[in-house]
Amino acid sequence: MIDLDNLRHNVALLAGRAPAAATMAVVKADGYGHGAVEVARAALEAGATWLGSCSLAEALALRGAGITAPTLAWLDPPGTDYAPGVEQDVDLSVASIRQLDEIADAARRAGRTARVHLKIDTGLSRNGCPPDVWPALVDKAAATPEVRVVAVWSHLACADEIGHPATDAQAERFDDAYRAAVAAGLDPMRHLANSAALLTRPDLHFDLVRPGIAVYGLNPVPEPFDLRPVMTFRSTVALTKRIAAGESVSYGLTWTAKADTTLALVPVGYADGVPRALSNRMRVLLAGARRPVVGRVCMDQVVVDCGDDPVAEGDEVVLFGTGAHGEPTAREWADTTGTIDYEIVTGMYRPRVARTYR
Ligand SMILES: *Cc1c(COP(=O)(O)O)cnc(C)c1O
Repeated sequence: MIDLDNLRHNVALLAGRAPAAATMAVVKADGYGHGAVEVARAALEAGATWLGSCSLAEALALRGAGITAPTLAWLDPPGTDYAPGVEQDVDLSVASIRQLDEIADAARRAGRTARVHLKIDTGLSRNGCPPDVWPALVDKAAATPEVRVVAVWSHLACADEIGHPATDAQAERFDDAYRAAVAAGLDPMRHLANSAALLTRPDLHFDLVRPGIAVYGLNPVPEPFDLRPVMTFRSTVALTKRIAAGESVSYGLTWTAKADTTLALVPVGYADGVPRALSNRMRVLLAGARRPVVGRVCMDQVVVDCGDDPVAEGDEVVLFGTGAHGEPTAREWADTTGTIDYEIVTGMYRPRVARTYR
């Protein structure tokens, strides 16, 4: 279940913390597994004015759903046809001269100017133009009439570690890159801040902030903020049974009942986003209590040990949610399996898991 009230709350909180900047809600990867179109609409209602996608195809899917807000697409391979993006007013990120040429060609074919955001690599060493190539890129962009440079931008490596010196180093390189663009005759906006920098580095908000994970109510920094998780993962008890002490459960029989007990079968498994690594290491909220999943997580099912408590077929099972009612959170799953909550919620985009919206 996707709680769009919580999402609107989060977007309003984030936009309020960056009052001088516009807010871009990042909805890549199908809205971090929450549904890009629904998330985009709710975020725009709550004060976001921009949307961020990874691929152009993701941005065009938003356009296909009738969403016209300014949208930036930032990563596609060589050979991508950018013309549909230009035609449908999708802003395009540029990290190389080769890519600038491809976009200029698409703009000529589309018969209109492409809006581009020049991306400088300030130290993440991932996407973005390296500083030694940057002067040539800004000169070429300034001399290419088929493109209009809307912004200079970059992405931070360590913003979630408050006080990390890399953030200041990146901010300095970002400033150099911006000044080079201005010197080349451009007048771009600037944007740098992800969720963590939005929350903790107001000096880096510039003209636009790009929160992703915090929109979904997951806090990337150790400091507390009133963010409300948006995704709750629920299922239903499909079958209950008593087993005798000494009986074992699920593939490999890795768990054995110490006493007679009631088991509840829940019809979700690793095909539905429950990591198999949580076998014998997770709990669910069922009939008012947190209860352990016992034995291996299978492709389609898990088994919950309920002791002698009354549980019934048809009872609701909460696998993770906001934590407000005692249920586990995506963060707990991430901590147990050695990952980040981004990966847990994004991994919930599964055809077999029905998404409902509130
Ligand atoms: C994913 C992404 C964001 C959002 O990051 P969060 O940590 O989820 O806030 C911002 N900018 C870029 C370029 C991204 O790829």
